[in-house]
Amino acid sequence: MKHLPHKTIERLSQYRRALLICAAKGKAHIFSHEIAKIQHITPVQVRRDIMLIGYTGTLRKGYNVQELIDLIGDIIDTKEGLNVAIVGIGNLGRAMINYFNGKRTKLSIVAAFDSNPDKVERAFSGVKCYHIDQMGEIIKNENISIGIITVPAGAAPEITEKLVNSGIKGILNFTPKPVNVPSRIYLEEYDMITSLEKIAFFVKTHA
Ligand code: NAD
Repeated sequence: MKHLPHKTIERLSQYRRALLICAAKGKAHIFSHEIAKIQHITPVQVRRDIMLIGYTGTLRKGYNVQELIDLIGDIIDTKEGLNVAIVGIGNLGRAMINYFNGKRTKLSIVAAFDSNPDKVERAFSGVKCYHIDQMGEIIKNENISIGIITVPAGAAPEITEKLVNSGIKGILNFTPKPVNVPSRIYLEEYDMITSLEKIAFFVKTHA
């Protein structure tokens, strides 16, 4: 399972979210074309992804919703869960904590870091903010393996280096500044402006 394509992992996470909603509505089985419709992709893509994780449904009933949720959980989650830290507790950092905590049982934001003394030693939606200089110690003590960067773009390279030196294993960079990491670190970068400009391009070409 280690070699699943990145895009498949992304889609499995999306399938699980859709499946959890179906399960909450009491739906026990689902066909690939139903998942495809929710995700706006083709049933072939859904079947290919689910085959890759070694699961098959039946022709008559489709996939068992709970079995598929559990299997995706076995692949994506770790048993004990993973701890996450957020660096830069400004507008976006606070929004991330509010949005995220309580929604994912296997991922928790357990610490925040900031350089502003007014924010240090305060709790934001239950998450304690530490001074950036305490990063190494807290990341080790709290067993944090993922870092989210929400500082101003100019500080992103310095913060990335600090996270890497503190022993972090994965980084989500929300700043518009691309950063470099050693190959052992998994990096995702999300730039809202790029997404918006992509939409603008397609809106223009379809006008
Ligand atoms: P903000 O100014 O509200 O917050 C930045 C926080 O980072 C502040 O609390 C500041 O004290 C802290 N900080 C600054 N330098 C630091 C350092 N060296 N070490 C530790 N902490 C430091 O900014 P924001 O609006 O939350 O945006 C944060 C980042 O996210 C920016 O790079 C921005 O481009 C990006 N972003 C923001 C949004 C948004 O909607 N706010 C959306 C997409 C991307």
